Amino acid sequence: MLDTLKQELLTAVTYLKDQKMRFLGKGSMTVFDRANNLIAAEPSADYPAISIADIPVVDISGQIVEGTGSPCIDLPTHIELYRAFPSVSCIIHTHGMYTSAWAQAGRDIPIYGTGHLDFFKEAIPCTRALSASEAESGYEISVGLCIAETFQKKSLSSEATSAVLLFQHGGYVWGSTPTETANRTVALEQIAMLAYLTEKINPDIVGLPRNIIGHSE
Ligand SMILES: [Zn+2]
Repeated sequence: MLDTLKQELLTAVTYLKDQKMRFLGKGSMTVFDRANNLIAAEPSADYPAISIADIPVVDISGQIVEGTGSPCIDLPTHIELYRAFPSVSCIIHTHGMYTSAWAQAGRDIPIYGTGHLDFFKEAIPCTRALSASEAESGYEISVGLCIAETFQKKSLSSEATSAVLLFQHGGYVWGSTPTETANRTVALEQIAMLAYLTEKINPDIVGLPRNIIGHSE
């Protein structure tokens, strides 16, 4: 079941490890087959070598349909995002060093260069802090709802801005395929590093003027 998607998930996870995107906790990845309402989820245990057989398939309520491995602990967050963003079919959660630094600082990543625009059309938003009751009443679901709320309040499109910073934690990136989403995940880390260095070199720098935005290549 979903063998092609599982293979693509496996390839993307291997790529993320090669790109050193899996330190400080391994993060999580899922792929959603919208036609069949089924999700292939990265297993929760830190398998040294994941095989296709280790990848569980769950339905949209998170119930395991196939596979013996437990799905990643962030699965409820992924499910809330699939519900909120109808064009999304793949989600990657990462703890990239610079991505997480911006998330911990609670700052959006401004658009400081045209390279940012090659992947994301707006600043990368950072969520608000969860309240104590949100955290206690199902942390992972609350995270998904909080991300959706961030996009709604800022009138952002999940297609133009396919990433978010989870305050005090890390990043979530999405797309239509595992390859596209993995590439965006690596790009987000690169953009986060560049933005940090840009502010170090020139603390007075301001974001790109709107007339430049839309002219990148
Ligand atoms: Zn995490």
